[in-house]
Amino acid sequence: MDYLPIFFNINNKPCLVVGGGEIASRKINLLLKANADVTCLAINCCKNVEDLVANKKITYINREFDQNDITNQCLIISATDDASLNRRVSELANSANIPVNVVDSPDLCTFIMPSIVDRSPIVIAISSSGKAPVLARLIREKLESTIPHAYGKLAILAGDFRSQVKEKLNNIKDRRYFWEKAFSGIIAEKVFSGKIDEARSDLEAQLKQSKDTQLGEVYLVGGGPGDPDLLTFKALRLMQQADVVLYDRLVSDGVMEMVRRDAELIYVGKERDNHSVPQGNINQLLVDLAKQGRRVCRLKGGDPFIFGRGGEEIETLAENGVPFQVVPGITAASGCSTYSGIPLTHRDYSQSCRFVTGHLKDGSMNLPWEELAVEQQTIVFYMALNGAKHLSERLISHGMRGSMPVALVEKGTTPEHKVHTTTLDSLPKLVANNEIHAPTLIIVGEVVKLREKLNWYDGDDNLPA
Ligand code: SAH
Repeated sequence: MDYLPIFFNINNKPCLVVGGGEIASRKINLLLKANADVTCLAINCCKNVEDLVANKKITYINREFDQNDITNQCLIISATDDASLNRRVSELANSANIPVNVVDSPDLCTFIMPSIVDRSPIVIAISSSGKAPVLARLIREKLESTIPHAYGKLAILAGDFRSQVKEKLNNIKDRRYFWEKAFSGIIAEKVFSGKIDEARSDLEAQLKQSKDTQLGEVYLVGGGPGDPDLLTFKALRLMQQADVVLYDRLVSDGVMEMVRRDAELIYVGKERDNHSVPQGNINQLLVDLAKQGRRVCRLKGGDPFIFGRGGEEIETLAENGVPFQVVPGITAASGCSTYSGIPLTHRDYSQSCRFVTGHLKDGSMNLPWEELAVEQQTIVFYMALNGAKHLSERLISHGMRGSMPVALVEKGTTPEHKVHTTTLDSLPKLVANNEIHAPTLIIVGEVVKLREKLNWYDGDDNLPA
C-alpha cells in the first residue's frame, strides 16, 4: 500500500483552500460536507465560491498567499493554476506537518483525495494511489450502481440500536450474526422500500428473541467447475455470510478464496474409493450445525444437483425441519466445454447432449450403451478417467465408429485447464500414456472437432502420444 486509507474528522476544524476556481470550489464543497470550517484564499473566485461566501458558508480572503496563512490550519488544499505557488504551499505545509493536497500533483501531496461513494454515514473511498484515477472512477461508478441508496438509512437505523444490541448480546459472534441477519433479510428490504418504522419494530422483535430459539439454515451452493468468476451472485453472497463452510476436493482454491475469511472450514472430501466422511455423516453434520443456530454453507463443485448428491443432503434437512436454500452452479460439462471451445450442441453435428456418470462399479458402467452409441449426439462422461478404456470399448462394440472425436478436459476452467483431443479408439492409449490430473471430463461427439475453430481460452492441444 502506498497510502494509508483513513477517515479524517475535520468537523469545525480550520481548513484552507488556496485558489478559487471550479476545482477549488469542488474541494470546498467536499470539505463542507464533512463540516469543516473552510477559508478560501484567492485573487479571483468563481460563481460557486462567490455564492458560498455570500451565504456565509466559508471565509474568503481576497489577496496573494502569504506563508502565515497556513498557521493553525489542520488541512490544506492548493488548487491554483500557478505551479510555483502550488509548490510553495505544499513545501510550507509540509514543513509545518500539516496534511496538504495539491490538485493533480501527487508529488506535492501528503494525502490524496479518493473517489467517493457517499451513502452517509456509509462512505466508500476508492484510490488508485494516484496511478490510475480514471480506473478508480470506473470502480466508483460500478459501486454507485450496485449499492442501494438506502444503505445510509439502514446504517442510521443500526446506529440507533447499536448500544441496545451490545448490551443484550455480549459476545461478538452473536452480535455479528444478529446484524448480518438484519442487513441481509427482510429488515433491510423494508428499509429499502421506505418502511423504516416497520423495520424498526422488526429489529426490536428480533432483539427480544432468545438466541437459543434461533435455528440456523443451510445453503447448498454450487461452486461451479473452478473459475471463481463463474460463481453466481447468490452463491457469493451466501458464501460470504456463512459461519461454517463444508467443502470437498472438487471445490477449487480460487472458489475457496471467496468464502468469508473467518468462516469455519470443514473438509468433508470424498476421494474416489476413499470416502473420508461418509455421506450419511455429512447429512447429519449439516443438521447438527444448523440446529446450533449456525448458517451453514455446503459448497459443492459444479451444480449440486448434477452428480452431486445434493438431493440426499437436503432430504435429510427437510426431514429435520432445517430451512435451506439451493443455489445452482455451472456444471463441469458446461464450464469445461465452453472453456475448450466445444459447443455441446450444434445444429449440424449434435441435436442432443447426455450427461452420464462414468464411475466404474465392479469394473463396469451400468449405462444404456445402445442409446449412447449414436451419431448426432454429444455424451459427457463425468467421473470417467478410470473407466476411459471401458467406455471406449463399450461404445465401439455398440456400433460407434472408432474415429469419433473425443476431448478429455483436465481441471477445466482452472488455471491448469488442459484439453487433450483424440478419437474414441485412441482414448485408452491417451489415458495410459499421459499423466492426467483429476478432475477430468470426457466429451464424446462430432462437436469436439469445432474446437479447432472455436477455441478461445487455452493454448494448443496436448495431442496423444
Ligand atoms: N456436481 C458436479 C459433478 C460432481 S461429480 C458438477 O456439476 O460439475 C465429479 C466429476 O465432475 C469429476 O469426476 C469430473 O468428471 C467432473 N468435474 C468436476 N469439475 C471438473 C473440472 N473442473 N474439470 C473437469 N471435470 C470436472
